[in-house]
Amino acid sequence: MKFQVPRGTRDILPGEVERWQWMEERTRAILALYGYREVRTPIFESTDLFVRSVGEATDIVRKELYTFQDRKGRSLTLRPEGTAPLVRSYLENAPLRQESISRLYYMGPMFRYERPQAGRYRQFWQIGAELLGSAKPEADAEMIDLFRSILSDVGVRDATVLVNSLGDSVCRPRYREAIRAYFETCAEALCEDCKERLTTNPLRILDCKVPSCAPLIQGAPSVLESLCEACAEHFEGVKQALAQLGIGYEAAPRLVRGLDYYTRTVFEIQVQSLGAQNAVGGGGRYDELVKDFGGPRTPAVGVSIGMERLLWAAGESATQPAPGPDVCVIALTPDAAIEAQRLARKLRGQDEAPEKRGSLRVMVDVAGKSSSAQMKWASKLMARWAVFVPRAADGYAIRDMAAGKDGPKQPTEEDLRRHILGLRDSMVAPR
Ligand code: AMP
Repeated sequence: MKFQVPRGTRDILPGEVERWQWMEERTRAILALYGYREVRTPIFESTDLFVRSVGEATDIVRKELYTFQDRKGRSLTLRPEGTAPLVRSYLENAPLRQESISRLYYMGPMFRYERPQAGRYRQFWQIGAELLGSAKPEADAEMIDLFRSILSDVGVRDATVLVNSLGDSVCRPRYREAIRAYFETCAEALCEDCKERLTTNPLRILDCKVPSCAPLIQGAPSVLESLCEACAEHFEGVKQALAQLGIGYEAAPRLVRGLDYYTRTVFEIQVQSLGAQNAVGGGGRYDELVKDFGGPRTPAVGVSIGMERLLWAAGESATQPAPGPDVCVIALTPDAAIEAQRLARKLRGQDEAPEKRGSLRVMVDVAGKSSSAQMKWASKLMARWAVFVPRAADGYAIRDMAAGKDGPKQPTEEDLRRHILGLRDSMVAPR
C-alpha cells in the first residue's frame, strides 16, 4: 500500500465511531446541565500563543509542537491544548465576557509530537471546560465536580481524584528554589532529562516517570511547606468544598502538571485500570493567564479530559451498536433499480418537511446485484424489512426479515411509509 496514516494518529472507523458520537453527546449534555457553552476555535494559532502560555521550558513547547510557517512567513502551530486558544477567544470576543463569570467549553483534536504508545497519540481529542471570572474555591470545586459527573455518567467507576496546590507568583518561586536546592544534592542520580530540568524547569522533575528518579522524588520537600497564607487558605477552601460535596479526593503534594500557566489548585483524575497512562484528565487554576494575554486580571479554572482515555475507561458501558437499516428496497429486476431509489426517498420522507419525516433508515443496492444477492445483503445489514419493486398488483410486498415472513398487507405507495412506521412503533421486543 502506498500511504499509511501518520505515526501516532489513527482512523476512527464505523463500529468505533458510534462510541465516540455517544460520548460526545453525553459529555455535551452534562456540560449543558452545568451551564457551559461551546466555543470552536481554529485548529492552528500563532506559535507565540502557546509559547507564552504553556511555557517556554515545558516539554510541550520544547519538543512537541507541530509548528510551520505559512506562505507569508508567519509561525503557526497546531494547537497542543485548548485553554490558550479559548482564553485568546475570550479576550477577542466581547460577548464571551458579557457576564462577570463565563462558563465555556471546547471539544476537538489536539496535536503533540510525543512518543506514541497505548493511550498516547500525536493527534488526540480533548474535551475541556473553563470557568473564567471567579477566584473562589467554589469554582475549583465546580470544575472537579463537573469532571467527576462526566466520568460517572459515562460509566467510569474506579476514578481517583488527586488535588494539589502549586502556589502563586508569591510563593511558587520559593518552592521552585526549595526543589532546585534539594535535587542539586542528588543531581548525579537524576536521569538525563531531569538533569536538564534542574536548570530549566525543576518542578517538572516531580512528574518524571523514569524509575530511577522515583525514590529521589519521594524525598522531595512538599509544596505545602512553601505555600503563602493566601494560597494555603484557598487550598483549604477547595478541600472543604470537595468534602461538603461528598467528593472523595487524595491530597497529592507532588502533583505537578505539564503546563506552566497553572497557579494554586491543580488536579488530576486517574483510573487505575488504564495502566501507565492512567490520567483521564486534569486541570487547575490559571489566575494570571488572561492578564498575561493583555486582558484584565481574571482568575480562572479549567479542566481537560482526554477522549481516547475516557472511552477506554468507560469500556463496555460506551458500547453502542451501529443501527441497521429499517428497510432495504429490493429491485426485483435490473430496470427497477432507479424505481427502488425513488421509493427509498419516499420512505425516508425526503419529500416531507423535516418535522414530519419520522426516521426510517432506508437503503437500496447500487451495485446491480441480483434480487437474491440483494436479499442476502439486506440480511447481512440486519434490515428489519424488505420492500420489493416493482410493486405487486395490489400494492407493495413487505417481508419481515427477522421473522422470515411476508406481511399480510400490501399497502399502496400512499400508505407504505405510515404502515412501516406503525409496524416499527408497535414492535415491543428490541431488535
Ligand atoms: P494535559 O492537557 O496535558 O493536561 O492533558 C489532559 C488529558 O489529555 C490527559 O489526562 C489525557 O487524558 C489527554 N492527553 C494528553 N496528551 C495526550 C496524548 N498524547 N494522547 C492521548 N491523550 C492525551
